[in-house]
Order: sequence, then C-alpha cells, then structure tokens
Amino acid sequence: MVTLTQSKPSITIVGGGLAGLVCSIILSRNGFPVTLFEKKTYPFHRVCGEYISNEVIAFLKSLEIDLYRFNGAKITELAISSVSGRTFKTSLDLGGLGLSRFLLDDHLYHKALASGAKVVLGIKANNISFNDNQFEVLLEDGRLITSDFVIAAHGKRSNLDKARTFFTHRSPFIGVKYHIKTDFPKNLVQLDNFKDGYCGTVKIEDDKYCLCYLSHKNNIKTHGNLLDMEKAVLYENPLLKMLFQNSEFLYSKPEVINEISFERKGLVEDHVLFCGDSAGMISPLCGNGMAIAIHSAKILSDTLIAFYKNDRKVVEDLYSQQWRRYFSQRLAVGRLTQKLFGGRITSELAVRGLQTIKPLSNFIIKRTHGAPF
Ligand SMILES: Cc1cc2nc3c(=O)[nH]c(=O)nc-3n(C[C@H](O)[C@H](O)[C@H](O)COP(=O)(O)OP(=O)(O)OC[C@H]3O[C@@H](n4cnc5c(N)ncnc54)[C@H](O)[C@@H]3O)c2cc1C
Repeated sequence: MVTLTQSKPSITIVGGGLAGLVCSIILSRNGFPVTLFEKKTYPFHRVCGEYISNEVIAFLKSLEIDLYRFNGAKITELAISSVSGRTFKTSLDLGGLGLSRFLLDDHLYHKALASGAKVVLGIKANNISFNDNQFEVLLEDGRLITSDFVIAAHGKRSNLDKARTFFTHRSPFIGVKYHIKTDFPKNLVQLDNFKDGYCGTVKIEDDKYCLCYLSHKNNIKTHGNLLDMEKAVLYENPLLKMLFQNSEFLYSKPEVINEISFERKGLVEDHVLFCGDSAGMISPLCGNGMAIAIHSAKILSDTLIAFYKNDRKVVEDLYSQQWRRYFSQRLAVGRLTQKLFGGRITSELAVRGLQTIKPLSNFIIKRTHGAPF
C-alpha cells in the first residue's frame, strides 16, 4: 500500500511534452497534488512532423482542449514517394491535423496550470531514486523533491536514461525540422523517401508548413553538413528537390536531434512509471507518436486514479497490461515498416507494392494507427 501523507498521493512528473502535460492535466483535475519539471521554457520548437492523428480529438475535447481553435490544417490525404519520385496516394479514413508543437505544447502547458498543476520550467531532473516507499527526484540545482509516485515522461532519450538498457546501444538516426512557406496541397501529408531516410511535409497553422526528416547519420558523415547533405541526398528525390528549391525557410537554422531509438523500453523500472516516448517510440514514418503519447498518458492517469489505494504493483501491472494491449503491436509494425523505407530499392518496391496491392496500405495504416479513445 502507498502510505499517504495527504488524501491523494503526490505525483512528480519529469518532462513536459504531450505525455507529461496530459498526465498533469488529468491528475490535477482529479485532486492529485502534481508537480511537473520541464527543462525548457514554453513556447519552444521541437523536432516533430507535426501531423497529429484525429484519434486524439474527442479525448482532448473531453478535457476542454479544442485543437481546431488554432486554425491548423485538416489532413485527409497521404502520399508516399520512393527515392525516384514514384508516388502512391491514398485518402486517410480518420485523417489528422497539422499543428505546430510550438502552439500545441504551450496550450497544454496553460491548461495544466489552469488545472492546478505546479509546473516548474527551465530545470532538469538529474536522478530519480526510490526508498522506503517514497521517490526522491534530484534536480540540477541540488534540490531533492519527494513524492509518492514519479511519472517519467522525458521523451525518446534523456540524461535520466543512462542506466536503461537501450541507452548503451547507439542509434543511427538524426531528426531535422524546418518551418517553410511553399506551394503545396493544404490537406496532404507527404512522405518522400531519400537514401537512408525520409521526409514528411504537412501544412500547419497560418500559411506555414512543417518539413521534417529522419536520416541515417552516415549521410551527414559523408557530406559534412546538413546543407550539402540535403543537396546531395535529399535532392535525389525530384519531389524533395522541388520542395527545397521552391520554399521560403522561415528560421535561420533547423531544429536537430540525434540518437533517435525505436528499441523496446521498460514501462516500469524501479517503480518509476514511464509514459510517452520514454516508454517506447513508434517510427515517425507512421506519424502517430503524438497520439500514442497522449493515449498512454490517459491510460496511466486513469489507472492511478482508479487504483492508487491498492498496492503499487497493481497500478504497475495494470498500466503495463493496458499499454501492451494498445501499443505493442503498433510499435512492432512501425519497426517493420521503417525497414521498408529509406532505401533506393526497398522504397521503390514498397511504393510499387502499395500501388498494386491496395489492401496493403489499409493494412499498414490500420495496424500503426489507433481508434479514437
Ligand atoms: C523526426 C520525427 C518526426 C516525428 N513526426 C511525428 C508526427 O508527424 N506525428 C506524430 O504524431 N509524432 C511524430 N513524432 C513523434 C512525436 O514527436 C513523439 O512521439 C512525441 O513528441 C512524444 O511525446 P512525449 O511527451 O513522450 O515526449 P517529448 O515531446 O519529447 O517531451 C519530453 C519532454 O521532456 C523534457 N525532458 C527531458 N529530459 C528531462 C529532464 N531530465 N528533466 C526535465 N525535463 C526533461 C524535454 O525537454 C521534453 O520537453 C516524430 C518524431 C521524430 C523524431
């Protein structure tokens, strides 16, 4: 049993991305004392394709979060091109919304504050330990924060992951994001393959587009810098060459991240509850990590609300079971799909396959996307 010093257990959340913010909103609205630590300060840009699946819309509405208020783009079509520019196009049953993380995360941050969560910005958690049924979170300024539960929602890779198995395996992927102005369909999300990578383009709010790509780091090693790599590698795909050459790039430099890993991760380690990308990340090709982060935050928060009075193990086991039920297969199909793309021959075969075997695209989309929850 969790020994309670107050009516509801205190909860520390590390990381204020979608998973951490949604947990903080739900739990503080249900009377839990919540403190969230985020190392950055909102609003800020992050590497993300900024296509959010419509499966989250109804749930967010139930939290009085209306994603349509920002005039994002309604996305109804998907196009995938091979390295040579051969293109497969299909309509998306459920579809999604193009919206920048700059707006989305900042909006959720304000919702978290309004819900009663304490949100501390600009400070990093350096360690989490568990002793005598209590957690201690060590902050970079030396403060020790104690609580009954800790939710680790620190994203795909963080200083807090150093002791986790996946951390020791180097990951070969880098992510790069630009905001651009360009002439491009407003309702389309397009995935263009290039050698050892792929690039997504989607309209977001105002008259802006998000252009975000994932590349093997060998590309950058070979060409020395992003600009030369883009010209030598991404421009091989004629659709990407056209996009890059006919767009206005809005920021002086792109957002870049390294070491993106799709490996399996633990869901609960030393009683810490992992949520969002820190529990497992789906290939960005499947365009669904944001929905999984939000859905996993709902599952974890609902489990805590319903079972916090029971033994910790009940919460941990039920959360893990639910997480696996909803996401394990999606992540596995995502890992497989990722292998099909990013190669000259495999992307050509994959696009030809999608063009000729119609049920294949439905199969992949259905197996990597969820239903509204
Ligand atoms: C190239 C690329 C393209 C993508 N495109 C899409 C897409 O189009 N659609 C989609 O749905 N998903 C996409 N994703 C996936 C999506 O971005 C993630 O799944 C989603 O952001 C996960 O949310 P999260 O809350 O788990 O983590 P994050 O959003 O990464 O948030 C984690 C937060 O924790 C903070 N943090 C980390 N360590 C600490 C610490 N020690 N102390 C305090 N704070 C800390 C970080 O600053 C960060 O704000 C893409 C991912 C990549 C890499």
